[in-house]
Amino acid sequence: MIEKLTLPRQISLPSDQDATGRTLGDEEIRFLADVIEKGVLTSTKGNYVKEFERQFAARLGVQHAYCASHGTAALHVAYAAIDPEPGDEFVTTSITDMGALTPILYQGAIPVFCDVDPRTLNVTAETIERVLSPRTKAIIVTHLFGQPCDMGPIMELARSRNIPVIEDCAQAFGARYRGQLVGTMGDIACFSLQQGKHITTGEGGVVVTNRDDLARRSYLYINKAWGYGDPKPDHYFLALNYRMNEISGAVALAQLGKLDFSVNARIEAAKQLTAALSGIPGLGLPEFGSDYVHSYWKYCLTVDGDRIPGGAVGLAKELKEQFGIFSAPRYIQKPAFRCQIFADQVTFGKSRFPFTLARPEAVDYSEGLFSGTFKGLNDVLVLPWNENYAQQHVDFIAEAVKESISKLKGDVDG
Ligand SMILES: *Cc1c(COP(=O)(O)O)cnc(C)c1O
Repeated sequence: MIEKLTLPRQISLPSDQDATGRTLGDEEIRFLADVIEKGVLTSTKGNYVKEFERQFAARLGVQHAYCASHGTAALHVAYAAIDPEPGDEFVTTSITDMGALTPILYQGAIPVFCDVDPRTLNVTAETIERVLSPRTKAIIVTHLFGQPCDMGPIMELARSRNIPVIEDCAQAFGARYRGQLVGTMGDIACFSLQQGKHITTGEGGVVVTNRDDLARRSYLYINKAWGYGDPKPDHYFLALNYRMNEISGAVALAQLGKLDFSVNARIEAAKQLTAALSGIPGLGLPEFGSDYVHSYWKYCLTVDGDRIPGGAVGLAKELKEQFGIFSAPRYIQKPAFRCQIFADQVTFGKSRFPFTLARPEAVDYSEGLFSGTFKGLNDVLVLPWNENYAQQHVDFIAEAVKESISKLKGDVDG
């Protein structure tokens, strides 16, 4: 028997898609008003973006931080800073945001997908090593959902082969591995300030690095490769305008002051849910040991369909129909390589460039090579997560999950 739910049947959860689940307030309004009153809206002349970059670098303890217009742009900047030759390979994860993948193709390089650990949906040294080749130009590690990758073995592997590592921290502000903040372990790292991330400017991104050479190329790439401040400036190479504007910069600076709150509140709420849900047979929780501080962009369950009938899809259906909780079974639904752009190689006109330069093994998307990916996507249930969750929200989710599982298992509920 399960206890009767004492909570209201449905309560509405704070959402990161509107003010209920965001930390936007007076500070943002004050900085925005200042930008408008001054009338300096470009970051080439204003100070908000510059100040954000200074403070963001200081928080991470890195030498350089540059804002970009989007997380996707920040990743493009990082890839362009690495400067691949056409046909060079970037090893990356089969489970990520498309914005982390398409810029590889724009730089003429080949995304080579590696498998993931089905428990965390993260890449590992072992899955990366399997796909390395003499053409590997960089390794991208994505700290998915706020869960850091196992960076020790990954960095050891990368250093031994002399391959630079790009950290995609779009979902992982404030996450740590063995005490170190994500974004400080690889050669260059990217963050996103999109609406649904830990802090937001609606759209926005940041690229950080300790390497002066990558910093210089990043700065130039964001600025059409114009050598501002140089004795004889020129447009040195092919590049775009990826600058963040001062309106976004003002919001970003105000939001930065709330980042610790956002991270800590998400972690605290997650601890409560983990305590409430531990010990349920067939339900996996995001707890992976003391090397990791997970910063909970989302809270992921893994649902063993053999022990919980209906699996992640069944549980999501119950959560939605009975409790109005919208979770995401299968996260991005299918591995990235199953999207049309990769499956049919749809790029520039009919050329298929740069796939035309790829080794056949680099674009082998056979299911058997990605068992962890398919297993991980099959089992995962992504719960919406938020810094404004109060005890009642966590209790509601916990009871909803427990009651839904009982129902799926066929326990009789009065
Ligand atoms: C959000 C996200 C991106 C892209 O960032 P945008 O700001 O949406 O362009 C890239 N990678 C990951 C892992 C993301 O979650």
